[in-house]
Amino acid sequence: MRINLSRLILRPREREAFFLETMGNDCFLEEIGGKFLTSIKVEIVVENTGNRFVGRGNVRTLLQLPCSRCLKDFTYPVDTEFELTMAEAVNSDQVSVDDGIIFFEADEADIMSIVEEAIFMAIPICSLCREDCRGLCLVCGQDKNSTSCSCQQETIDPRWEKLKNLQ
Ligand SMILES: [Zn+2]
Ligand SMILES: [Zn+2]
Repeated sequence: MRINLSRLILRPREREAFFLETMGNDCFLEEIGGKFLTSIKVEIVVENTGNRFVGRGNVRTLLQLPCSRCLKDFTYPVDTEFELTMAEAVNSDQVSVDDGIIFFEADEADIMSIVEEAIFMAIPICSLCREDCRGLCLVCGQDKNSTSCSCQQETIDPRWEKLKNLQ
């Protein structure tokens, strides 16, 4: 996801709005078992402050995530704000993301790493398919949202279990 700053570079103290759209990279969500269901849409206003390009934007996308309790996949909309700072690189060796600043050359800054970070921050550590998800039965593994197993009633008090074995 790249921003073309060729016009704004020539206009210190001015702002420019950008609308960007790109497909997300599922590798980035692999670790948590998620994937992108739609493209990533970014709206951002960048200001040329004289020596930096400061952007404030919004990122929206739709993710598929596994529920932390029942493991079923569900749709999770991301709609979050983010900020970034960009600066022209002195030479091509400097093109990187350093201390949160994206250094770029040839008038184009690659903002994908900051956008992915914003998406990642928007995902809760415990993501649930619904707030009152009942999760899986710890005994039989059935989804307690759709079936009601009778595991709890069958649980025998360990003290009685001993007596049963004596008989
Ligand atoms: Zn669930
Ligand atoms: Zn059960």
